[in-house]
Amino acid sequence: MAKQQILHCSFCGRNRDEVKILIAGQDGHICESCVEHAEEIIEQELGLVTTEAKPTQPTTNKLTVKKPIEIKRFLDEYVIGQDDAKKILAVAVYNHYKRLNQKVENDVEIEKSNIIMVGETGTGKTLLAKSIARMLNVPFAIVDATVFTEAGYVGEDVESMLSRLLQACNFDVQAAEKGIVFIDEIDKIARKSDNPSITRDVSGEGVQQGLLKLLEGAEVLVPPQGGRKHPEQKMVKVNTQNILFICGGAFDGVDKIIARRVNTNAIGFNVNKALQDYQHNNLLQFINAVDLKHFGLIPELLGRLPVVTYLNPLDAETLRNILTEPKNALIKQFTRLFDIEGIALSFEPAVFDFMVEKALEYKLGARGLRSICESILTDAMYELPSEKVKAFEVTLEYSMRKFGSSKMSMLKVA
Ligand code: ADP
Repeated sequence: MAKQQILHCSFCGRNRDEVKILIAGQDGHICESCVEHAEEIIEQELGLVTTEAKPTQPTTNKLTVKKPIEIKRFLDEYVIGQDDAKKILAVAVYNHYKRLNQKVENDVEIEKSNIIMVGETGTGKTLLAKSIARMLNVPFAIVDATVFTEAGYVGEDVESMLSRLLQACNFDVQAAEKGIVFIDEIDKIARKSDNPSITRDVSGEGVQQGLLKLLEGAEVLVPPQGGRKHPEQKMVKVNTQNILFICGGAFDGVDKIIARRVNTNAIGFNVNKALQDYQHNNLLQFINAVDLKHFGLIPELLGRLPVVTYLNPLDAETLRNILTEPKNALIKQFTRLFDIEGIALSFEPAVFDFMVEKALEYKLGARGLRSICESILTDAMYELPSEKVKAFEVTLEYSMRKFGSSKMSMLKVA
């Protein structure tokens, strides 16, 4: 009986304490190195790794990356405007995956092109990163920089962002190691002043320090369930060498820093609002790592985020296009919802201008468009399924009436 209790690998015979992982089967166990060997044999037998593979035959597990122009074209289907950001992202992503596919023996080591995107909230930063991941068909995780604290303090360790990536691909470590992590609100971990602080800054500079090795590429032990709530969980080793990190942040006030550098006056009582907006729009395009350093990101972190790009604030025309143009545009979504019900939904063109006007008036940006659509269409979505209607036209008069009586219209405009 006692002999049965010493677990060992049924393939190589090594005992439990001689191996790292022992996976249990019905009548036996297998260790991690036997799994690796088995994988090699399978690959050879199934011809996944052949020495004479025809060059035109893509291997099944190789990432096929589109050319930058095609990447941009793909992004155009989902994201309106933001041409500069799309172009820069397309090149960075293309280079990143080119680097990933290059032969290891090459003596020129191409460095990672992690990206930082600066732009007001709701301008499409997350959407861009999400669309890229969708195009590449790689695991994608969105994490919020504000939840992290320096290791040892209350909050999450930075490593847990990789837990999300693992979860996104059903714990397939190999897939996760080629994934994309979008770190939102990176500006919220800026240090409070340009000088290194005397008191510990555990949710700012401390987190930035913690991010360094992840961004650069390292083997990290990741708690698969994330957080610190499951101390018993077995850590998974993930190499971040080929994970692309895209950071985004609003960096409120960075325009003043840029203005100082490019010697333009962005503040003052005499500057009219239109001019101020114009300058703001145009100032962001001059953003560089120095401005971000003044904002409070540490130089070491910026060194690991070599690609800096910006997003324009959304003007009325862009908002109007966001409503109807993208592949899964809001209006298309609502039309589909009615369509399923057998109702042909149509809109008077002026309704779109009205929605945009309200989104701008309530300073809600593109995110607000959805709530505005909801507030106009909720009654119709509630009543029409019980009525025998085949078509429904949303007129300007109807929209104004419905929006006027909605809770949303009662919000005070700041
Ligand atoms: P951010 O990450 O910059 O705060 P998001 O990418 O989350 O903003 O955008 C919020 C929502 O607004 C998206 O889901 C999308 O529907 C819409 N949106 C924002 N910008 C654009 C854009 N340029 N093109 C299309 N939709 C956009």
